[in-house]
Amino acid sequence: MRLVFLGPPGAGKGTQADLLSEKTGLPHISPGDMFRRAVKEGSELGRKVKEYMDGGLLVPDDVTVGVIRERMLEPDCAAGFILDGFPRNMRQAEALDVMMSEAGVRLDAAVNFEVPFDILVERSVGRRVCRGCGATYHLRHNPPRAEGICDECGGELVQRDDDREETVKERLSVYSRETRPLVEYYREKGILVSVNGDQALDAVAAELASVLRDLAERPR
Ligand code: ADP
Ligand code: AMP
Repeated sequence: MRLVFLGPPGAGKGTQADLLSEKTGLPHISPGDMFRRAVKEGSELGRKVKEYMDGGLLVPDDVTVGVIRERMLEPDCAAGFILDGFPRNMRQAEALDVMMSEAGVRLDAAVNFEVPFDILVERSVGRRVCRGCGATYHLRHNPPRAEGICDECGGELVQRDDDREETVKERLSVYSRETRPLVEYYREKGILVSVNGDQALDAVAAELASVLRDLAERPR
């Protein structure tokens, strides 16, 4: 399946993409994760993207589209993928359409994770990520077994630089301005499906699985 995950920052896209990837083997492609890795490594890409990320702004389209285009050509994407956090504006959505038609394939669905705006700041501010493997936790909603330590790899859990309250608010306003219009874009294409992201993590995963099952059974 070729899936795009839509939704505001903190909606739970990365968490659900990780779970679905584990279950299905589909690669989880997140430009945010790729950029954070590049910043950590101090690569040229990392130097290019850092100031945008720290400010809660979108990295320029030429850089982002280039990174995604290259990633999508890797053999593990041939049978499908979960795109989490791309596209994030209309130009990226059009670039993705071009990539899909060049490859002679199409998206199966854009999954919109719906979460009331007022809980998103708390979701992001309470997020903790593993410095080692990147696994995601939440101080209240999805805590690790031992405080500050990753269940998966024993790495140290830290707050993302862009998860401080002021930056989260900026990211939410960037979302409203640039990304939310994509919900209509995919609705008009007839591939939008919605999942209620305002429920316990397992319940979201179950609803997502059911939506994807329905989709697989639908004649195309
Ligand atoms: P996104 O990738 O959409 O920015 P994440 O998957 O990183 O969002 O989730 C944001 C934060 O909310 C994380 O700390 C995560 O552990 C937590 N979270 C994810 N899903 C849920 C949920 N259904 N209920 C409560 N907290 C959640
Ligand atoms: P995320 O991990 O999805 O929350 O993204 C973290 C940050 O990475 C964003 O605030 C942007 O600065 C950058 N980023 C991630 N995805 C994109 C994208 N599709 N286009 C531009 N910038 C992005």
